[in-house]
Amino acid sequence: MIRVSTLASSSKGNATVIHGGGTVLMVDTGISATRIRKGLSECELSLPQIDGILYTHEHTDHLCGLGVLSKRTPLPIYCSRYLLPDLRDSAPNARFTCLEPGAPIQIGDFSVTAFCTSHDAVDPLGYLFECDGTRLGYITDTGRIMRGMRELLSDVDGLLLESNYDPDMLQNSGRPYPLIDRISGQWGHLSNEQACDFIREIAHPGLQALVLVHLSQDCNTPAIATRQMQHTLDELGLATRLHCAPATDRLPWVCIG
Ligand SMILES: [Zn+2]
Ligand SMILES: [Zn+2]
Repeated sequence: MIRVSTLASSSKGNATVIHGGGTVLMVDTGISATRIRKGLSECELSLPQIDGILYTHEHTDHLCGLGVLSKRTPLPIYCSRYLLPDLRDSAPNARFTCLEPGAPIQIGDFSVTAFCTSHDAVDPLGYLFECDGTRLGYITDTGRIMRGMRELLSDVDGLLLESNYDPDMLQNSGRPYPLIDRISGQWGHLSNEQACDFIREIAHPGLQALVLVHLSQDCNTPAIATRQMQHTLDELGLATRLHCAPATDRLPWVCIG
């Protein structure tokens, strides 16, 4: 079994805890060290129990807690080799392991495979986690679905999937046009529609749980994103449990497997 809990999930901060067997991993530390410690304690965990922190990319909403977190604890960090210089500046005493997209590595009881996402960052990555035959995918901050995601995640048991914006809300947000173009472009973020399209592509009865993540607080609402995805799941005849990660609060454990 794998269980997953988001500590925060939005353009203002992202951090996720994944637990399987005797291993605890985090993805991103984009909230303050204080909030991460508090979130971990709500998960009945603490920082020294974390076996690996994996980074998706260097944007502040995925990274900002690292500097303070790593001051007292030498963290085990996993990232793209292109991201290493940035992270080393923030966490000089961390232990680093570089990830190659498509090449699985073992971290405790997990096999972890990184894959490329399409985002305006240095070598951004998504992840597939496997533990005891259970498979969990994590896709965030990508302007489009790429072939590698379809191939790797077609039979996952659980998925955290970006559902960033509602296109009408984005167009009417009053934001400058270059920013609207950036968000909706192929190096930006996934819309609710794009998230639903991907679920249609990989739909299979074994998809037990789906967590919508990284919702924009200005250009989306949990009600809109959830309604649209639930409609898609109903159309497909899937009994998948649907969750929406709260922007600033913890999503309690979601169990898969
Ligand atoms: Zn982000
Ligand atoms: Zn980003």
